[in-house]
Amino acid sequence: MIAATHNKGKLREFSRMLEHKEIEITTPPEGIMETIVENGTTFAENALIKARTVFEATGIPTMADDSGLCVDALGGDPGVKSARFMGEDTPYTVKNAAIIDMLKDVPDEKRTARFECAIAVVSEKGERVFLGTFEGKIGYEAKGDNGFGYDPIFYVGDVSSSEMSAEEKDSMSHRGKALRAMIGGIDDLV
Ligand code: IMP
Repeated sequence: MIAATHNKGKLREFSRMLEHKEIEITTPPEGIMETIVENGTTFAENALIKARTVFEATGIPTMADDSGLCVDALGGDPGVKSARFMGEDTPYTVKNAAIIDMLKDVPDEKRTARFECAIAVVSEKGERVFLGTFEGKIGYEAKGDNGFGYDPIFYVGDVSSSEMSAEEKDSMSHRGKALRAMIGGIDDLV
């Protein structure tokens, strides 16, 4: 199955979680992902846009995820715009510092946030979307270097998701939950 992403952090998480299943993950052909316009208003719509485009171009069953960070004190932002927030090429050290700064006057109980993930699977037999959420809070400093993206500022208790081991993060993460739902729900699609 093709995983329609070039994000190395996501590919690493997909491969390690599918390692024990008989699902081998390959990357999409060069150039396709760059043509996709993610103009959906939900994670599920964007995941379907990506999976459909790659399946239609290759004929190979394709999974695609769309995910992001929703911060309640920012009205759910950056949300579906998580990758584009402050510019696609801006380093996450800068994006994470900016979010902490935007929340500088927000008290602890209002710093709630969640990572959301939608995984779409499209094959000649049909299409389906699986969802997962990961509840936490935005911390007061960036910590840890195990994760990627917004992990260093996303906390569960006193621990950021960038300080968690891979197994720990997979067991509770949005992507882990959506992927486990996918593994249990695609027998008739692939
Ligand atoms: P996408 O590739 O359009 O799905 O964008 C996902 C965005 O959300 C990227 O900016 C990621 O850095 C961020 N994101 C999604 N999942 C995670 C995660 O598990 N940890 C940290 N950042 C994440």
